[in-house]
Amino acid sequence: MATFVGMPAFPEAAREKLGDTVLRRNLAHATATIRDKRAKVVGELEDAGTWQDLRLAGAAIKDTALHDLADHLELLERRLTAAGATVHWARDAAEACAIVASVARTHDVDEVVKVKSMATAEIELNEHLADEGIAAWETDLAELIVQLGDDLPSHVLVPAIHRNRAEILDIFRRRMADAGRAAPDDLTDDPRRLAEAARLHLREKFLRAKVGVSGANFAVAETGTLVVVESEGNGRMCLTMPEVLVSVVGIEKVVPTWEDLDVLLQTLPRSSTGERMNPYTSTWTGVTDGDGPREVHVVLLDNGRTRALADEVGRQALRCIRCSACMNVCPVYERVGGHAYGSVYPGPIGAILNPLLRGVGEDPQVDSLPYASTLCGACYEVCPVAIDIPSVLVDQRRAVVDAKRGKRPSAEALAMKAVGAAFGSPRRLGALEQASGLAGRAVSRLGSVTLPGGRSALRSAPGPGRAWTDARDAPAPPAESFRAWWERTDGGRS
Ligand code: SF4
Repeated sequence: MATFVGMPAFPEAAREKLGDTVLRRNLAHATATIRDKRAKVVGELEDAGTWQDLRLAGAAIKDTALHDLADHLELLERRLTAAGATVHWARDAAEACAIVASVARTHDVDEVVKVKSMATAEIELNEHLADEGIAAWETDLAELIVQLGDDLPSHVLVPAIHRNRAEILDIFRRRMADAGRAAPDDLTDDPRRLAEAARLHLREKFLRAKVGVSGANFAVAETGTLVVVESEGNGRMCLTMPEVLVSVVGIEKVVPTWEDLDVLLQTLPRSSTGERMNPYTSTWTGVTDGDGPREVHVVLLDNGRTRALADEVGRQALRCIRCSACMNVCPVYERVGGHAYGSVYPGPIGAILNPLLRGVGEDPQVDSLPYASTLCGACYEVCPVAIDIPSVLVDQRRAVVDAKRGKRPSAEALAMKAVGAAFGSPRRLGALEQASGLAGRAVSRLGSVTLPGGRSALRSAPGPGRAWTDARDAPAPPAESFRAWWERTDGGRS
């Protein structure tokens, strides 16, 4: 799975984003709005005592599907094939992209229209098709803004959440003409005018495109039916108007039966857009005479999912239905935004999904993600399929540490080893306490900041210790150790 090329590890990227006050204002406003909407509609079910039941039912449905994944996928393939679809299997991003490109080439097209899809973003399909001379046009409004702005998505549901209206107006004015119908000269930043400009721009593309590309929110094994839910209706245009439809579907999207959808189609919209129902729910089963695309291809994508499935603690991440609720409540995400995570999956779910799909110990950027959390637990509380993200984060931290065992130790590991050696011997501990008492007295005299409560702290530790004090206060050690105090006062009695 690709990460944004050249992205530094999370702490470095986050530090830069923290300085962007416009970004923080945009994010705080947007996440607070979505949070409030979600809380209201989830509250209706909580009052009726059914939300927790639905949440646990959703988790059980996904776990059941994952438990016998191979059986469900084979049934899905049989049903799809019987309904006239062509099923392809892709082990990784390269194979999936090659399949989509080959379908497009077979039909001799130089452009495709796309339904918003995380799977295709994950495999960087647009970039791959561009290399083959095929333009992939995003038709979801937020994806369109990201694409026209040569930008990167920063949220699963609202990829342009980091943009405000003024920035969107600027992007439409500057870039729409290059990609098709230009923005009207008198366009303003009124949301209705912006949406209208996008609608006219996209209509041209819907009417022209011969090939549509989508993902799927769910794939029902018992009937071979794919499901896409959305709010704008643009997805449905892509699913029904082109002659050929290619759907790239992560293998974890399969659910055994239609009854399973009953639960998930209640929890997904409430958690994502704060609606009781998605405005558009499209389902299709292969090819139907006189209705929709004449040719349907389904690419079943692994790309690290079987690796995640093999992880006993982490496999629950595959329950994720990409609602994005965990992002909207995460205090870390709200302050740094999605780009800092360096992946199309940002926020709490991105912090576990990226290392699970890609493995740890190879890429410092991926290894930094399990630490991109305060472990406050808010993500678990809102997750509609009850993924225990904090526990998986802690387990992935363990995996990162394990992966580095035997390699050149980090400064932190060396420091911990030294502390361990000191604590292992009363004599060494006594010497360390004496030295830290001296250091404490020196810092108290020289220390440049005073913490609440009056204790001195170092503003910046010297040498490698600077990395520690960059992000934390380093309180001065007490001038007298506990053991020295105990001896001097006879345990507080004198
Ligand atoms: S982890 Fe849970 S809350 Fe986060 S996107 Fe997935 S389903 Fe939604």
